[in-house]
Amino acid sequence: MSAVLVVNSGSSSLKYQLIEMTGETVLATGLIERIGEATGSVKHTVAAGVVSVPGAAEVRGDDETFRGTEPVADHAAAFRVMIDAFEAHGPSLAENPPVVVGHRVVHGGKRFFEPTVVTDLVKINIEDLAELAPLHNPANLDGITAAQQAFPAVPHVAVFDTAFHATLPPAAFTYAIDAQLAEKNRVRRYGFHGTSHKYVSGRTAEFLGRPLDELKTIVLHLGNGASACAVDGGRSVDTSMGLTPLEGLVMGTRSGDLDPAVLIHLHRKAGLGFDELDALLNRRSGLVGLSGRGDMRDVVEAADAGDAAAALALDVYLHRLKHYVGSYLAVLGGADAIVFTAGVGENSVAVRGRALAGLERLGIRIDPERNASPERGARLISSDDSAVAVLVVPTNEELEIARQCLSVI
Ligand code: ADP
Repeated sequence: MSAVLVVNSGSSSLKYQLIEMTGETVLATGLIERIGEATGSVKHTVAAGVVSVPGAAEVRGDDETFRGTEPVADHAAAFRVMIDAFEAHGPSLAENPPVVVGHRVVHGGKRFFEPTVVTDLVKINIEDLAELAPLHNPANLDGITAAQQAFPAVPHVAVFDTAFHATLPPAAFTYAIDAQLAEKNRVRRYGFHGTSHKYVSGRTAEFLGRPLDELKTIVLHLGNGASACAVDGGRSVDTSMGLTPLEGLVMGTRSGDLDPAVLIHLHRKAGLGFDELDALLNRRSGLVGLSGRGDMRDVVEAADAGDAAAALALDVYLHRLKHYVGSYLAVLGGADAIVFTAGVGENSVAVRGRALAGLERLGIRIDPERNASPERGARLISSDDSAVAVLVVPTNEELEIARQCLSVI
């Protein structure tokens, strides 16, 4: 038996999952939030009667969830709380000792394009890349340091969100600005959600029973953050997020693409400074900016009820999505599959149906009944006469991280 502990450390949260890798089954998951505040919240779920699903790790059966509140000062405290939760509620870490701890790290820059065993030098490099991901990399690093203290005897492996996009060709990753200035300041497109795009494109090939290296796939990862990826033969060849996770699709609170001159104009005309522009585009734009609602469920519900702002927000979201689908069909020279994943992609019948409506001449035909099916796993939602297979494939970043960790130790 070999278990992998996968952790995702945010600035005020710690998410974890213990996965038994022989059958790729989840043993426990947890979420510790409001780290650093007066009262932290703790949620620990023990998977009982776990059923293994080929190609996916899912918590099934009678899961038991334990919730509590207690102060959690920092990431080191969070790991102690996590270990206490395992001791109090199980499963026993002594009986299921993790052989490796896998860490999600957001930005790997140009340096990290593979899962990487953490050393002091690797940590220095992750810290150095914080200037490209100031909200994420420092928190990821705090989590790594705290985890190393909590689990000193096992290797720790960093899996980077940018890594899958290391195969982008220069034509796709280069911004058309002063080349020397860009090089000096590391300005280029890096792309994010790589772990998800890799997992989902691989699972798609498996589902379709086709060799991955022959498949052209467009993956639409639509969560709070959202990105599209053109995958050719298992390699990312284009993706919608750029230097940061702000570029591309319309998201819950982020604008995605806009004319860069909008920033200059708002600075000159409205007197907005850099921090205000940063907050505007990252936190007060997207669905929230247009409709006051950041959750797609609320936006669809309000639009259906006749709310004009919500209807426009949805139209803008879908228009942008369609742009990227069309663009990646051209980049790939046609696609075998278009795949929806993450919170919105896995759950929103309306978004999936509307995003690909009217593309019949391009060989894309959604079957409304299949699209509306309440089924949960990987599934086909296109009609049998659709030249392009359209699928929903639930993402599983934790399992992908765990697999990559085992591959390097
Ligand atoms: P994150 O980017 O935080 O990982 P998720 O992939 O979990 O996000 O996606 C979260 C989003 O999924 C929510 O904000 C919500 O808008 C959307 N979502 C979840 N369920 C539904 C649903 N049934 N219909 C539409 N959107 C949904």
